[in-house]
Amino acid sequence: MLSEFDLIKQYFQRSLPLRAGVALGVGDDCALLQPQAGCQLAISTDMLVSGRHFFADADPFWLGHKSLAVNLSDLAAMAAKPLAFTLALSLPTAEPPWLQAFAAGLFTLADAAGCELIGGDTTRGPLNICITVFGELPPGQALRRDAARVGDEIWVSGSLGDARLALLHLLGEYPLSPQELAAAAPRLHAPQPRLELGLALRGIAHAALDLSDGLHGDLGHILQGSQVGAQLFLPTLPAGPVLAHHPQEMQWRTMLTGGDDYELCFTAPAAAHQAVLKAGAASATAVHCIGRICAEPGLQLLAADGQAVSAASLHLQSFDHFLTP
Ligand code: ADP
Ligand code: MG
Repeated sequence: MLSEFDLIKQYFQRSLPLRAGVALGVGDDCALLQPQAGCQLAISTDMLVSGRHFFADADPFWLGHKSLAVNLSDLAAMAAKPLAFTLALSLPTAEPPWLQAFAAGLFTLADAAGCELIGGDTTRGPLNICITVFGELPPGQALRRDAARVGDEIWVSGSLGDARLALLHLLGEYPLSPQELAAAAPRLHAPQPRLELGLALRGIAHAALDLSDGLHGDLGHILQGSQVGAQLFLPTLPAGPVLAHHPQEMQWRTMLTGGDDYELCFTAPAAAHQAVLKAGAASATAVHCIGRICAEPGLQLLAADGQAVSAASLHLQSFDHFLTP
């Protein structure tokens, strides 16, 4: 049987040189961070609960990856550079193979992102993974939800909807072929935080957020925060390669309300159109212009002919932990 301290030492305490920005890591009562002089800290927490955010038998490697990825995605959306993270872990039992795979998935992404595990807490209980990330950025450079301006173009990175499609299949609600599932499942299990794009958008984009609960609801947070409205051009939404072969209404509904995309949605002045394309190219991330910010409140959905499409006709409902059954 592993003791709590053996478990921490064996799987989560690494004897590597500390990264720049970390003055003291795992092992003391607190870790110590030393952000670059004059920088602000960007801090975000995301909790993953077994049976709620992932299946109880989820692959531990990809669970380790995803637990950190969804947190790094928040740093990306703020244009912050990752520094460090803490891990609060509640586990029913200490199973070495599970812990080893979980730690491998976690540290593979942590090392790729330059983000160091500096502490946490470990307890016995239902499987629950809570990570807090710390990033740094110069004052005034954060991409905030309240910064969209009338006339801004609205952009989204990558593609949308395949993660939701994989989830619908696994829940038995929408059938996919084995090939389709194999292509869509990595979007659900292994989201890629758009860190390079977020950094490349510093000084170019106005507002940004990462898409975790669906474009329709998430963009609504920017509109509300910035007290503006928006027009979205449905034919310009980038459907994931699997979703793109499904009926159009299914595509729009899935892209607008499917969660778990972890793409960035951001606004930028129309004059910065070329600069946004350059930022996408520089970070090897596809970027798509999907609409425009306007003064009239609300989110208007437009079809190819410019006709408004009502949200009700698409049966849209964003995911909400307390409202969605
Ligand atoms: P304390 O009793 O002071 O809260 P703990 O005994 O919980 O400290 O943890 C001992 C050390 O191990 C601390 O530095 C803590 O940050 C770290 N730690 C505990 N759990 C984890 C974990 N899951 N991942 C990384 N570090 C952890
Ligand atoms: Mg503790």
